[in-house]
Amino acid sequence: MPLTGSLIRNVQWPLMELIRQNRTRAYLQELREAQQLPAEALRKRQTSKLKQLLDHAVQKVPAYTEFAEEWRTSEEEPERFLQRIPLLDKCQFRENSHRFLMEGANPAELIANRTGGSTGEPTRFFLDRPTVERYEAARWLGLSWYGIRIGDPSVMIWGSPIELNQKEAHRYYLKERWLKNRVMISAYDLDERQILSHVGLIRRFRPAYLYGYASALALFAELMLQKGLRLGVPLKAVVSTAETLLDHQRQVMAEAFQAPVVNEYGARDGGIIAYQCPAGRMHAFSENCYLEVVDPVTGEPLPVGQAGALLVTDLYNRVMPRLRYQLGDVLALSPKTCLCGIRYPVIQEIDGRVDDMFVSLKGSFVHGHFINHLIRGLESFRTFQLVQHAPDRLTLRLVKHPERYRTEDETRVLSGIRDALGEVDVRVEYVDRIPPAASGKTRYAIRECPLTASPRV
Ligand SMILES: [Zn+2]
Repeated sequence: MPLTGSLIRNVQWPLMELIRQNRTRAYLQELREAQQLPAEALRKRQTSKLKQLLDHAVQKVPAYTEFAEEWRTSEEEPERFLQRIPLLDKCQFRENSHRFLMEGANPAELIANRTGGSTGEPTRFFLDRPTVERYEAARWLGLSWYGIRIGDPSVMIWGSPIELNQKEAHRYYLKERWLKNRVMISAYDLDERQILSHVGLIRRFRPAYLYGYASALALFAELMLQKGLRLGVPLKAVVSTAETLLDHQRQVMAEAFQAPVVNEYGARDGGIIAYQCPAGRMHAFSENCYLEVVDPVTGEPLPVGQAGALLVTDLYNRVMPRLRYQLGDVLALSPKTCLCGIRYPVIQEIDGRVDDMFVSLKGSFVHGHFINHLIRGLESFRTFQLVQHAPDRLTLRLVKHPERYRTEDETRVLSGIRDALGEVDVRVEYVDRIPPAASGKTRYAIRECPLTASPRV
């Protein structure tokens, strides 16, 4: 496929720049130059962008105009001033989204986007084209660390565009194939019977890299290993995105695909935030976004190195700025620099979704997996679900094993929960089955109370 890649690079992109004023490559060049700058210079650039964003938001965005006078007279650094603004969670944003639209912006001229509804209500928001191009530039920079260029062929394992009719779907695939040099494999279509034809497709297409959901890539890899299949195509990278990449998923991908497994950290409503470098660290694109980590209960900033709830402030989206937007992930920033030569700040670890975490009475996080570990070793229960209604009030639903049930196992589970969460009130319900959620998945850990307590607008 070298011809398609070269046409995309040398004809299609220059035309897009000429006709549509697409600036992705210019932004990519900016990001590439900035990654060499000393940390202090990067920080100064970020401060200056944050200042411009605050100037804009307090003037033009109804949700923030109440801060105009305070900001005008403030002598604080922008980073410090930002902390006066309450954090914004998805629910607060969804209910007041019209207040975040810049005065005079016409939604019909903007790019509408929405998050998936798998972990809750979908969130609708708007972006302008330059913001989207900056996200794309960040992704291309991350990919360039692995020798991948714009126009290089890729195979994407993704949810299929099922909402399209047949004609639209055909057009969509043609566009993917010839304008993006990309073929799609449906993530809904991965099973033992299909895997051989999918592997055949990859062998014929010879992509430079694979791109997909962590869980879909891992399933693909597992099916390959089960069948003893090898791709036989030298991949520059396998890029996992959209979900937390777990260690066992990374291992199975590395083994099946025989290529570096790269974590892309981004979100539809947060852009491309960070990329894993060849030395294995996550670098945050500080040119595009400002990150804070706060205590999940008090909303107070946490020191670098300590894990907490991530807040993202996109430094460029002028049409719908969201300051201190709580994306729902738990992570820690790192004070370390990386030996790879890229100077973008390092994210220490990404612990997963806030939705899957419980909060203890002390305010610390306890990942939902803990209940799994707790109950897995006991034969009394077939399955379970723990729901945290409020920090001190939970419901534990248990499905008994008819023959192996012993009452003392219930006591052991309850004391394990209290060891982890504190002296909480747990109501135990014995049920015949745990019904799945609307997504089809059965969740064993559900938290209904917010991790943060900060009223907004
Ligand atoms: Zn690095």
